[in-house]
Amino acid sequence: MRFFINQPIAKGAKISITDTGMRHQLVNVLRRKTGDTIIVLDGKGNEADAVIQSITKDEVVVTVGVCGKNKNESKYPVTLYQSVLKKDNMEIVFEKCTEVGVSRFVPMLSEHSVKQGVNFIRARKIVQEAAEQSRRGVIPEISETHSFNDAVKEAQSSGAICVIAHNEGEIEHIGDFARAHDLSGGINVCIGPEGGFSDAEIVYASQNGFHIVSLGKRTLRAETAAIVACFSVAE
Ligand code: SAM
Repeated sequence: MRFFINQPIAKGAKISITDTGMRHQLVNVLRRKTGDTIIVLDGKGNEADAVIQSITKDEVVVTVGVCGKNKNESKYPVTLYQSVLKKDNMEIVFEKCTEVGVSRFVPMLSEHSVKQGVNFIRARKIVQEAAEQSRRGVIPEISETHSFNDAVKEAQSSGAICVIAHNEGEIEHIGDFARAHDLSGGINVCIGPEGGFSDAEIVYASQNGFHIVSLGKRTLRAETAAIVACFSVAE
C-alpha cells in the first residue's frame, strides 16, 4: 500500500499522518494495524517502507525505514494539453494518463469544446490515487484551464518538443516521430475535444512550433487518443 504523505522522509523519522482521508483508507478500508508496513512517498520521487507505530482517532504514526528513489517516472517530462471533455471522459484522461506517465495536465478550451469546466478537487484526487496505484514517485500537476492560444504559447516557450494529434491527410505517426527525435527535454502532447480541432487551431499550432502527428488511420475517441498518445511518448 502506497501513500503520498508529501512530507520529507528520512530513515528513523517518526511521521504523523493526520489527513483524514488517508487515515480512513488505512484504518477502515485497508484494516492496517499497529506493526503493519506501508510505503510512504514524499511526492518528490523518494519512497520508504514505514511501520505503523500507533493509531488514534486523529492520526496514524509511522516510523520510516530505508529510503530509496522511485524508479518508475518517465525519463523526461510529458505534458498533456487536453481540450476539456465531458466529465466522465475527462476523468478517464486524468486517471489513465497518470498511469502511463504524464507529469503535468493542462486543460484547454478549444473552439469545439462542449464542456468548459473541470472539477479540480476531484481531478487531484483521481490523479493522486492513480499515481499511488501505478507506483509513481510523483503526483502529476494539474494546471489551471488555458485558452487554446495561451496553451500553445506556453507549450512553445517551455523548450520541450510539441506535438498536436490530428487525424487528417498523410501525417507522421506519433511513434515514428518519437523515435526520430530527442525527447530528453520533454514533450508536450496536444489532444482535441470530442469534435476535434478547427482548421484555424491546427494552423495556429503549426505556426507556433507544433508538429502535427497521427495516432493511426482510425479515429479514436478523445480520451483514447490522449492515453495512446501519452503511452507512445512516455518512457
Ligand atoms: N471528428 C473529429 C475530427 O475528425 O477531428 C474527431 C475528433 S477525435 C474524437 C478527438 C481528438 O482525438 C482529435 O482532435 C485528435 O487530437 C485526437 N485523435 C483521435 N484519433 C486520432 C488519430 N487517428 N490521429 C490523430 N489524432 C487523433
